[in-house]
Amino acid sequence: IKRKGFSLRRPLHPVVLLTLVYTISRLCHFKAKRGFDSLNQTSSVQNSVAVFWDLDNKPPNAFPPFEAVVKLKTAASSFGVVRSMVAYANQHSFSYVPKAVREQRRERKLLNQLENKGVIKSIDPYVCKVCGRRFYTNEKLVNHFKQIHEREHQKRVNQIGSARGSRRVKLVGKYSMKMEKYKNAAREVLTPKVGYGLADELKRAGFWVGTVSNRPQAADVALRDHMVDVMDKRKAECLMLVSDDSDFVGVLKEAKLRCLKTVVVGDADDGALKRVADAGFSWTEILKGKAKKEAVSVVGKWKDRDILKKLEWTYDPEVERKLYDSEGMFDDESEDLDFDGSDDGNSSDYIHKEDSGAWWELDTESDADSSKSQ
Ligand SMILES: [Zn+2]
Repeated sequence: IKRKGFSLRRPLHPVVLLTLVYTISRLCHFKAKRGFDSLNQTSSVQNSVAVFWDLDNKPPNAFPPFEAVVKLKTAASSFGVVRSMVAYANQHSFSYVPKAVREQRRERKLLNQLENKGVIKSIDPYVCKVCGRRFYTNEKLVNHFKQIHEREHQKRVNQIGSARGSRRVKLVGKYSMKMEKYKNAAREVLTPKVGYGLADELKRAGFWVGTVSNRPQAADVALRDHMVDVMDKRKAECLMLVSDDSDFVGVLKEAKLRCLKTVVVGDADDGALKRVADAGFSWTEILKGKAKKEAVSVVGKWKDRDILKKLEWTYDPEVERKLYDSEGMFDDESEDLDFDGSDDGNSSDYIHKEDSGAWWELDTESDADSSKSQ
């Protein structure tokens, strides 16, 4: 039988290793008991990242939401594979229009008036991105878009809405390209009826968006519950939280207890959350792509931790004994392999053994031992 987890390439100093393994076994009791199975169970979530965005606390504001998500996702993916992105906010956050967007709209209105009066003229014509028609003023383009394309779109939506079963599926397939084209064009031409399209932009960028009531803390509670659910179902190995709200300290601590990796994105430099998390970044660092560089060193540390964790599982004395007793491979000397002894002063025996050979190559050593004794 070939044992998993023994193929440690990089020899660590035995004392350091034993101390760390002991510490980790203390922290990760729930895993230590599972033995080999846990290795297979966790393989599907290995390196997976779940992103949680507290929109009420950290709205993207001046930065376009779609681009903000792209940057955030890039940063998150340097910690692993991004499996889920979840954002919560109350209705107020979604209907709010940031100052920068309000100013943009005011400016556009002014330009439209000047264009209509013939005072100014755009160098390039305004092109309809659905049908390709060209207009000399922005207002004409907007009117054309509303009269022709917005109506067409509404018709399609209604048709799909009233259809059932296979007819519905057919219609969705038939219209999907056209509707996508419309949505992309509408984003630039039409002003969202509510807010500035925050929820739509986040969804477009891949977020699952939850709206809660305007009751204070409602979004916090929803987000926290969602995080706990992801932990309970072990859907992710790393949690990335976008918030500065110290109410999340508890859930981050819980994540650490469960041996999950934690990353916080917030602007409070020495905030309560950053003190708890494994790594912390500011929005500026995320937007400038600085997080990616730092992530490399963080991930390096995690990898070392993971190697140690795997070793710890493999050394579970009960599993070891059962496995090898049944194979008849071990004699009484196998007790030396128990890591239990590492914390009560017997570790010196163990280290002594190391001097006589490369102890981390237990595969070959124990194979040789057992073949001698047979
Ligand atoms: Zn058109």
